[in-house]
Amino acid sequence: MPPLPPSFTDTLKGLPGYDPEAFSAVHASGERITSVRLQPQKTTGIAGLFPQLDVTPVPWSRYGYYLSSRPSFTFDPQFHAGAYYVQEASSMFLEEAIRQTMDLDEPLKALDLCAAPGGKSTLIQATLHPQSLLVANEVIKSRAALLSDNISRWGADNVVVTNNDPRDFSRIGEYFDLIVADAPCSGSGLFRRDPEAIDEWSYDNVMLCSQRQQRILADALPALKAGGVLIYSTCSYAREEDELIMDWLLENFPLENIPLQLNPGWHIVETLSPQRQAAGYRFYPDQVKGEGFFIACFRKYGEAAPHKKHRGQLSLLPPREVARIQPWLNVSDEHMLMLHQDEVIILTPHMAEELPLLQKNLYIRKAGVKAGQLSAKDLIPDHQLALSTCIAADLPATDLALEDALRYLRKDELQLPDIAKGWTLMRYNGMNLGWAKVLPNRVNNYYPKELRILKAGTPE
Ligand code: SAM
Repeated sequence: MPPLPPSFTDTLKGLPGYDPEAFSAVHASGERITSVRLQPQKTTGIAGLFPQLDVTPVPWSRYGYYLSSRPSFTFDPQFHAGAYYVQEASSMFLEEAIRQTMDLDEPLKALDLCAAPGGKSTLIQATLHPQSLLVANEVIKSRAALLSDNISRWGADNVVVTNNDPRDFSRIGEYFDLIVADAPCSGSGLFRRDPEAIDEWSYDNVMLCSQRQQRILADALPALKAGGVLIYSTCSYAREEDELIMDWLLENFPLENIPLQLNPGWHIVETLSPQRQAAGYRFYPDQVKGEGFFIACFRKYGEAAPHKKHRGQLSLLPPREVARIQPWLNVSDEHMLMLHQDEVIILTPHMAEELPLLQKNLYIRKAGVKAGQLSAKDLIPDHQLALSTCIAADLPATDLALEDALRYLRKDELQLPDIAKGWTLMRYNGMNLGWAKVLPNRVNNYYPKELRILKAGTPE
């Protein structure tokens, strides 16, 4: 790894917790830390997921674990089943920030404003009350597609993916109980993991990022309810993107800072903004087992406006069709089945209530879980259903050994033992990977083409 340039390290001098020698040494070491966060609705724990590796918990996360080395996730069918999300450990602290600032006994409305590829969204989803509604938004279209795929793989039923500019959210008025703004930043916190980024770093870019962060926050804040919480984070060490943004927020908006309780054993550094003495939290890779990260929490004050109900109509599936779909599903009686063209979409009750307003104001890429396409006598089940928590537990399924699971995920031809004709779930280690249809003389592999494994090779 190239040495850190003085033009960068000079800007860190005097920052709380910055230790020049230890910081340079940890970057020179090139050590790679690998961590994953489990999908609690699909797994019962880490046991058995990585039998070849040592696993240790990430101290500030209920479902986060360090792995003793980096396996090939591409060749792990459990990754494709959405059993876990590969996420940098420091950023998992968002879970602790949410636990300390939100009432998790209540269903809430949350917005993850800068969401792709979806690490924070999947974390927020797993942390909030299960009847909450999460809007995961990404402004860049191609990244919104990636976000959608990752949300589908995660499989939760209570996420809406949108593809909007932050300013579009002001149209819905004060609406969200929680807004997470994991802002685009100059990225110095990831230098150890991504050394090529060192050459791209410049102070001018830090200033550009800082201005963009202000614009994003100013655009999104009208959508936060009075009493609601804003969590701001970056993976930059720059004052201009961290402490100075805290001061700017407090000077320009009706916000108060929310300090968090830290366990001293975590070695997270508290930092105070120069003007308002607002508390934020810095993560240095020489002090925590994770990359560089910054996070701060705020509450909006003022009178909460009454919630406006939007009277939009959803096109619901007729009752006789519902009866046809029901055997495929394991959802509450309150879940709704919406018909969108000829596709059946499963909506949570909270989502069904809010969707008309969201549809009117935002570009929705995905809402809830697509169950499948209705044909005259059948449902053609969708990949989203196979990977979702809405699927019935007793559908026909075939357990595959590793080699066959990888063949399936490559969309190669399958030779299955003599099994019943019709739709069958392809499973690995008890987890659904997708659908296949068994015909009299062959098996059709329904794994989505765009998701198939392209990489050559086999697991080590
Ligand atoms: N939260 C994500 C996660 O945990 O997986 C990472 C988000 S990344 C730090 C910042 C995101 O902001 C990127 O996906 C980027 O495309 C998006 N972005 C870039 N410019 C933006 C803008 N002007 N407004 C909102 N988001 C923007």
